Amino acid sequence: MSNFDHIIIGAGAAGLLLADALTSDDHFSSSSILIIDQDNKTKNDRTWCFWEKENGKFDSLLHKSWSNIHFAGQKWDRSSSIAPYQYKMLRGIDLYNHYVNRIKEHPNVTWVKDRVVLVEENGSKVLVTAQNGFHTGSIAFDSRFNPEPIQKQQKYPLLQQHFLGWFIKTEKPIFKPGEATFMDFSIPQKENTRFMYVLPFSETEALLEYTLFSEHFLEKSEYEAGIRDYIEQKLGNTNFEIMEVEQGTIPMTCYKFHKHNSDRVMHIGIAGGWAKPSTGFTFYNTSKKVTDLVVHLKKGKPLSKFHKRTKFWFYDLLLLDILYKHNHLGHSIFEAMFKKRKPQLILKFLDEETSLWEDLQIISACPKLPFVKALFGRIF
Ligand SMILES: Cc1cc2nc3c(=O)[nH]c(=O)nc-3n(C[C@H](O)[C@H](O)[C@H](O)COP(=O)(O)OP(=O)(O)OC[C@H]3O[C@@H](n4cnc5c(N)ncnc54)[C@H](O)[C@@H]3O)c2cc1C
Repeated sequence: MSNFDHIIIGAGAAGLLLADALTSDDHFSSSSILIIDQDNKTKNDRTWCFWEKENGKFDSLLHKSWSNIHFAGQKWDRSSSIAPYQYKMLRGIDLYNHYVNRIKEHPNVTWVKDRVVLVEENGSKVLVTAQNGFHTGSIAFDSRFNPEPIQKQQKYPLLQQHFLGWFIKTEKPIFKPGEATFMDFSIPQKENTRFMYVLPFSETEALLEYTLFSEHFLEKSEYEAGIRDYIEQKLGNTNFEIMEVEQGTIPMTCYKFHKHNSDRVMHIGIAGGWAKPSTGFTFYNTSKKVTDLVVHLKKGKPLSKFHKRTKFWFYDLLLLDILYKHNHLGHSIFEAMFKKRKPQLILKFLDEETSLWEDLQIISACPKLPFVKALFGRIF
């Protein structure tokens, strides 16, 4: 059995960004770090998009960025510049390759490929049991996501952001490469919150994702039919070839993930509740959380004290309460927001960086009745 100062379970977005932050900081240069993952991270299993003002630390790895976004409601649509923001896209494999290589330069890091089955605390140690061995550490960061406790409770609704995406190449030039379609709600809603997400790389290449914010998954054929219909009806019915497929689900919930943390074991990434409950955007938030976590660790504070609840948690809770009970209302809420407010203000709000005055501008743009009812539902 080997003993480490820090154990990181999962070398996905959260695990790699945390390992990189620790190994880049002299404070941790003498700490021994174990990274344990069941996978060797050699597949391009996802693409991450996020927005950011001007330059950022992932810029050298980006696949594409856009300075305009397009939003479409049921009866209107708008394209706008999002300056000073850029909407940025990063391929999973580029992040994995870059960070795995960078972290491997540090001799204080040990990599183990194994499947973790149990994490326990024993006095001042954390015991990590994997299929092929045991490891102990002073503290552990766990990015294995277990949906069970969320599914078992009823206090906080659980929706999913679920989607299937096709990377396509078309015969005719049909895309505007400078503009990402953030949400297109002009597709049939079928009593849900459904939209298309279109990220063009050139006039003939794009990622199209048929996306829902809803409780239940669809049959694969329904997501596929949604993309096919969109190409036929909205993009000019051209011949196309599917180059790659991406499918995913991201939990949308205000569940208090942090209550599973202790002074020695902390859940990170999706497993730590780092996905924005109302949108599923996780990647950039994870990068910000990792920066805060390193500061927290350097102050010697216990892991259980890391979590902070903000007003944004409550705003998300109200929106999820509405979408859980009245899933068909999603398009009208997002439409009202994008119709009445500038995208920069909305992006700032979704980044949880707005003042109370700016929050009120966003809230006042949304349909009032569902939010008032959701508020009363929570209070009483
Ligand atoms: C297809 C897809 C697209 C997405 N796109 C976006 C996006 O555009 N923007 C955005 O903000 N978010 C996006 N997300 C959501 C989120 O950013 C990602 O899911 C992100 O990868 C979450 O990081 P994580 O570290 O929590 O989990 P992961 O990246 O999934 O990492 C978890 C790691 O733990 C390992 N692991 C799991 N169980 C075990 C075990 N028992 N033992 C050992 N290792 C284990 C896994 O192999 C994996 O490497 C997307 C998600 C998916 C699935």
